[in-house]
Amino acid sequence: MKFDDYIIAEGIKKSLAKQGFKKPTDIQFKSIPSILKGEDVLAIAQTGTGKTAAFAIPIIHKIHIKKLIKQSNGVKCLVMAPTHELAQQIDKVFRDLSKHTKVSSYCIHGGVDRDSQQLKIEDGVDIIIATPGRLFDLAKRQILDLRNIEILVLDEADHMLDLGFIEDIKELMRFIPKDRQTLFFSATINDAIKRLAYDMVDNPIRIELSPKDPVSKNIEHAVAFIEMDDKRFFLANYIANHPAQKLLVFVRTKVRAERVKNALEREGVESITIHGDKLQAEREEAMRAFRQGDSLVLIATDISARGIDIPDVECVINYDLPESSEHYVHRVGRTGRGMNKGQAISFCSQEERPLLEELDKNLGKPIMRIELTKGEYALTIEAQKEALKTDWQSLLEEEEKRDKKKRKKKK
Ligand code: AMP
Repeated sequence: MKFDDYIIAEGIKKSLAKQGFKKPTDIQFKSIPSILKGEDVLAIAQTGTGKTAAFAIPIIHKIHIKKLIKQSNGVKCLVMAPTHELAQQIDKVFRDLSKHTKVSSYCIHGGVDRDSQQLKIEDGVDIIIATPGRLFDLAKRQILDLRNIEILVLDEADHMLDLGFIEDIKELMRFIPKDRQTLFFSATINDAIKRLAYDMVDNPIRIELSPKDPVSKNIEHAVAFIEMDDKRFFLANYIANHPAQKLLVFVRTKVRAERVKNALEREGVESITIHGDKLQAEREEAMRAFRQGDSLVLIATDISARGIDIPDVECVINYDLPESSEHYVHRVGRTGRGMNKGQAISFCSQEERPLLEELDKNLGKPIMRIELTKGEYALTIEAQKEALKTDWQSLLEEEEKRDKKKRKKKK
């Protein structure tokens, strides 16, 4: 089935075509008809599957059609997301898809003064996308009137629970009409998420994508056994062999992120970092540079990069193994997005083997192993050390040449 065959507003079809989206992805194929019918949806969808458009397309359509016959200015749809970055990203999808319709959306940022947000809200927007904390604040101060909400979306609900948003979400429910359509999206499911979901949805349509293998089929993922002290050589070596690739490197902590950046710098590789110690403006700048390809290597922690949609990330490297299979699924899901193919490689040291065993168990099937012989392993390290030496050598030689020239000129 093609988007052309769907009964949705022509304006949306125009935007889809502009973005080169011809056919729905699995999650879109499964969700769009139910959402159009007004049913509640509980979707367990991996990241990168096209889930934002899966809810944005039918929501824009429904609001657009309604506005053809009835002008109304109140907020009709509320989308909650765990982080500012994700909220902005969702807003961008809404804006792109609604460009040729009557529908408007607005993303509520923390860090922006409330007055300008109030003005924008009073101006009249149809869809608000925000994190639960800031939303609750605005609703409590009666700046944001949520009494006309017809559709509520919770995106990355598992991540919202991880970040401790549960109380904000529950409190927010006091301001939102019970008689509404609720769309609940989560990449993973456990008892806490099920409890929250069933508190919010009503007799939902349950959509689950390949539950046995939570990693998208578009992603080829494997693990290599590399000792802690050698990881930087293997990373630098990978980058040297794939100089034009957009690469996302995951590490366990903020401190590790900066350390890996410094280690790469010593190996002659430029990279940027994104983690919780960075200011919002710095994080946004890093995302911009990576998105536009000004920087090709981004080193990130789990929290800072979850849900982030950056086109064309060709490879994800788990420099440190993640703590849980949920984190693993989220991390590797940064590549192979939409209809693209991607690859993910995890570096596992001796100390991390128990973590790997856990991952194998929880992912439903073991991660593929990259078997390196002792010779190949040693060769990679030697090659990298050699490359570094030559780099230094050539730098020194260049410096010497420059000095000679200067001396000649002085004479
Ligand atoms: P999401 O899971 O919403 O973060 O989307 C992941 C990626 O899939 C984004 O880069 C979208 O632009 C892309 N995408 C969404 N829908 C489609 C589609 N129907 N065809 C191709 N790519 C898509």
